[in-house]
Amino acid sequence: MECDILIAGSGIAGLFTALSLRDDLKIVLLSNADLNKCSTYHAQGGITTVLDEEDKLAFFQDTMVAGGHLNNPEIVKLVADEAAKCIDVLINAGVDFTKDSSGNFKYTREAAHSKNRILYCADQTGKEIFSKLLEAVKLKKNIEIIDNAELFDFKVHGDKVLGAYFFKNNKVYDIDSSYTVLCTGGIGGLFKNSTNEKNLKGIGLALALKYGIQLRDVNFIQIHPTAFYEKVEGRRFLISESLRGEGAVLVDKTGERFVDELLPRDIVSKAISDRNRELNTENVYLDISHLDKNYLVTRFPYIYENCLKKGVDITKEKIPVSPCQHYFVGGIAVDENGKTSMDSLFAAGEVACTGLHGRNRLASNSLLEAVVFGKRVAESINSSFRKLNVFRDQSQYVDTDIKKVIMQNWKIAANEILKVREDLKSELLDY
Ligand SMILES: Cc1cc2nc3c(=O)[nH]c(=O)nc-3n(C[C@H](O)[C@H](O)[C@H](O)COP(=O)(O)OP(=O)(O)OC[C@H]3O[C@@H](n4cnc5c(N)ncnc54)[C@H](O)[C@@H]3O)c2cc1C
Repeated sequence: MECDILIAGSGIAGLFTALSLRDDLKIVLLSNADLNKCSTYHAQGGITTVLDEEDKLAFFQDTMVAGGHLNNPEIVKLVADEAAKCIDVLINAGVDFTKDSSGNFKYTREAAHSKNRILYCADQTGKEIFSKLLEAVKLKKNIEIIDNAELFDFKVHGDKVLGAYFFKNNKVYDIDSSYTVLCTGGIGGLFKNSTNEKNLKGIGLALALKYGIQLRDVNFIQIHPTAFYEKVEGRRFLISESLRGEGAVLVDKTGERFVDELLPRDIVSKAISDRNRELNTENVYLDISHLDKNYLVTRFPYIYENCLKKGVDITKEKIPVSPCQHYFVGGIAVDENGKTSMDSLFAAGEVACTGLHGRNRLASNSLLEAVVFGKRVAESINSSFRKLNVFRDQSQYVDTDIKKVIMQNWKIAANEILKVREDLKSELLDY
């Protein structure tokens, strides 16, 4: 197979990049599962925007404080400058952000934001954004989507990535491309407990290690304080930060409040773990039952219904919660245009580390980062695109057990995490 641009990943970063590329470029978009098996689809709380000139400074300060000032200040400024125009693209694509009765956008607030500046679609913001972007991509004649296709290696020629190998229906395919954009999301699939889908197993990390592509801040792995606590296999259900933004309180088994709920995620997660250790418990509780039932059911319909299915009525009862792996702050180091250290390879979204988040991501900043950098990657390719001589070598994986190669990738990624975060050893799956 052959294309101009290969994009691996069809979450917000992949879809937004594809839509921002020139119509005369032939684009192939890969996903290693059904299309909705991505973090974008599950995002609940919202997407940060920057309201006006004055808010740029407040956004800058909030992002830097949450990130422990380890953020790249130039990148934070760049995102502040470009946020509103990227949000406009989403609105023009039909994303139906929640509005008040006069038709004005409603803004909510989450932990460590100093003001209400987050746009949302009830409590399923990601699903709405994903659906509208996917509809738009499907209308484009120059974009082909291939799902259930596991990218497991790059096609590398000299110092350039000139395509990739993927595995679909038990067959190996190779695809030549002039440029490749990795939008393969996070690493939650490597963990026993995560809010991420199981197919997100850190392929970016594994391939970066294989080819010596520069990584950044791999040790910054975000643990979300409030996932629904239950002893079942599979993805953990997230109880969005926006509940705390709207007044939910965290209490221990004795009913005592023990932390300011609006502090950054790492601090709240640590407070919960400490309290569990002190009281020898496995979970604490999030309580929002003091708010009006009608308001709760309208504002958080998805969380309300899902908790009810799990036996908890959030309008009357406390929700059992505990921290779990949620977001990969570090990743493949990219510059301000999403370019990696390897020729013709770009990265955007959670797989990339732009320097926006520092050591801890401010809530709702990752969807924003994905659109700002998806657009920048596309603009950079659009302005400099030239067809590279493709490199055909289909022989490399003949007679190879590809399932073993894929498993090896997971192992490489998991070992790297272990190297920098020994404290997470018991949380990682064994490969
Ligand atoms: C439950 C939950 C709630 C969240 N809520 C919010 C929120 O309210 N606001 C916010 O800003 N952020 C939120 N986040 C974080 C945010 O959703 C993600 O960081 C963001 O959606 C990542 O987008 P992405 O496009 O980089 O990756 P994803 O949306 O995860 O997409 C990754 C894609 O890569 C593909 N892929 C992976 N490996 C391979 C491979 N080997 N071969 C081929 N394809 C591959 C997958 O199939 C998928 O298509 C939330 C995350 C979760 C899990």
